Amino acid sequence: MKFLQLLLVIFMAAALLIAGPLPTANSTNVEIQRRLAVDLPENRDLWPITSNGVSEIYYCYLASTDKDAVSEVVTSAIAQMMQSLGGYAGQSSGHRIRIQEWKAQDGSASTCTTGDPAYWDDSVPKSCLMITATEDGMSEGRRGWWKGPYNADTLRNGNGNRIIIRKGCPNLEVIHELGHTLGLIHEHQRSDRDQYVYFSCQAVNGYDDMKTVADSKGWDMNKLCTGRDDESSERRDAVWDFSIAIWNLMPYLGSDNYGDFDMDSFMIYPSMAFSKDSEKCETHETPDWCPLLRYTSNEKGLNAPMEAWTYSMQLSERDIQAIKQIIYFF
Ligand SMILES: [Zn+2]
Repeated sequence: MKFLQLLLVIFMAAALLIAGPLPTANSTNVEIQRRLAVDLPENRDLWPITSNGVSEIYYCYLASTDKDAVSEVVTSAIAQMMQSLGGYAGQSSGHRIRIQEWKAQDGSASTCTTGDPAYWDDSVPKSCLMITATEDGMSEGRRGWWKGPYNADTLRNGNGNRIIIRKGCPNLEVIHELGHTLGLIHEHQRSDRDQYVYFSCQAVNGYDDMKTVADSKGWDMNKLCTGRDDESSERRDAVWDFSIAIWNLMPYLGSDNYGDFDMDSFMIYPSMAFSKDSEKCETHETPDWCPLLRYTSNEKGLNAPMEAWTYSMQLSERDIQAIKQIIYFF
């Protein structure tokens, strides 16, 4: 995981946009955990309802350079996502999500921070989803809504509400990160994924370097690959550093998954994502080169017949159903 380098100094606890207490999302917590598999991380939750039954998700760009780099794809991705969800939040669409850029009272858009070194702009709510652009890194998203506290440490440590968007990425990559923002985990991290797909840790770009570290420390790679070893923060940081964590089974403790495993979900990676050699994955479709392959028969395991798949370019029917009926229903 990459941590934000910028020092954000926040003077006060969060001043949320709305007056009065936030309605809680308790009624949906049981249901969401089926889809989200086990726990939202500590201090995270669904986005609260902030007005008229709507969950307003305001976003701001870290700085104007970030805005210049990715605002076009972000705007277009949000429009595509809302279209898939049947339009604006409300009775007719059946969902309560509204995502829009934070605007000052005079209607001008503001970046999240000002100055050099940058400080959080006090006129912008601290709960805003902060969007950062990256030229050569990868897109990332924190899961769920950060309940606070909104102070310098939590924001600097990568908490708060934020996504990182890779310059030049397709709409779907932004939509996928927004899926995390809404609280969704990867479909391939569900507890039952091994029934549907074969995960080949050795094919992940980063595996060999991770193994060198693991061998020198006496760590068990099998445990690191499945995420069944969460005792040491040093080990946990390492699986993030080598991009192994994004395949770890999320519900270490078992969970109730929402609906059937969905190969068409916008929250599952394509076969070649993070491959050691994606061209070889494309040509050979074997666990030597493809981190994820799907089974094509009832046989399971390394020698079972399997095949690669490419990225779904839209939300699947079940994604839409989960968001509308289970998670962010109006
Ligand atoms: Zn993801």
